[in-house]
Amino acid sequence: MSLKVYIDGELVDEEDAKISVFDHGVLYGDGIFEGIRSYNGRVFRLEEHLNRLYQSAKAILLEIPLSKDEMQKAVISTLQANGLHDAYIRLVVTRGKGDLGLDPRKCPKPTVFIIASRINLYPEEFYQNGLALITATTRQNSLATLDPCIKSLNYLNHILAKIEANNAGFLEAVMLNENGFVAECTGENIFIVKRETLLTPPTWVGVLEGVTRGAVMELAKEIGLSAREEVLTRYDLFNANECFLTGTGAEVIPVIRVDGRTIGTGRPGEWTKKLIAAFRELTQREGVPIYG
Ligand code: PMP
Repeated sequence: MSLKVYIDGELVDEEDAKISVFDHGVLYGDGIFEGIRSYNGRVFRLEEHLNRLYQSAKAILLEIPLSKDEMQKAVISTLQANGLHDAYIRLVVTRGKGDLGLDPRKCPKPTVFIIASRINLYPEEFYQNGLALITATTRQNSLATLDPCIKSLNYLNHILAKIEANNAGFLEAVMLNENGFVAECTGENIFIVKRETLLTPPTWVGVLEGVTRGAVMELAKEIGLSAREEVLTRYDLFNANECFLTGTGAEVIPVIRVDGRTIGTGRPGEWTKKLIAAFRELTQREGVPIYG
C-alpha cells in the first residue's frame, strides 16, 4: 500500500507528494522541520514539538498558515491515514515557492508537508553495548550565524560532521561550538554523568533544545539523579563516569568511547541504564492518542 503524505492540506499518495523546484526549502534550505515519534498509538510530546516548530518559524519570520490546533489535527490525520501506531513523523514547513532570488517576500505561501512512516532505529546492540564517537572537525553554527535552537532545513554542517564519522567508521560524531566547547552530536543532544550529577550543555552554547533532552532532565530528577546544564569540554567527556545521547530517533543511547578514550568502565553506566528504562516506560504511557 502506498504511503499517504500530507501536503498543503491534502493527503495524497507518496508518488503524488511533490513540491516545486522553485520552493525555497529546496533552493536555499529556507524552512524548518520537526521529527516526532508515536508509540503505541500515542504521539509523544506533540505539544512540545509543535511549540518548537512555531518558535523556529517565529525566529525566521515564517508565518505558518495553520494554527497549532490545525497542525496537531494534520499530524493525527496523517497517522490515521496510514494506520500507524508506532511511527516517525517528519513535519516540514518551507518558505514556499518563489523565484530564483533568495528574497522571501517573493514566496507568498509556505509549503507544509507531513510524512509519517515506520521508524528506523539504531540496532538494539548499541543500547546494550554503547556507541563509540569521534569529535568532528566541523563545528556547530555560532549563535551569530544561525542559532542551533532553530530547527532549520540547513543541516549541511551536521551532514559534514556525519560524513567525518562515516569516513572514520563511526556512527556518530560530537560537534563542538565555535569556541571548542561541546555542543551536541549531529542529530542528538549529549549528556554526561559526573560525580552523581547529570550534565548537559546549555542551549546558549549552541544546541537544539531537544524534546528528549527535556524529558530526560525530568526523569533524572524523578529517579534521584540531580541534573543541570553546564558548559562541557572534551576533557569533561573523556573523564565522565557515564555518557549518553538523546534524540527522538535514538531515544537514550549509551556512549562508551570518545576519540579512543574509554568512558567510565567501558560499559553503559548504571544511571544511563536506569534512564533508558525510565524513558521507554514514559513513552508507553504518555502522549496524544491517535485513534481517540
Ligand atoms: N540535536 C540535533 C541537531 C537534532 O537534529 C536533534 C533531533 N534529531 C536533537 C538534538 C534531539 O532533539 P529531540 O530530542 O527533540 O529529537
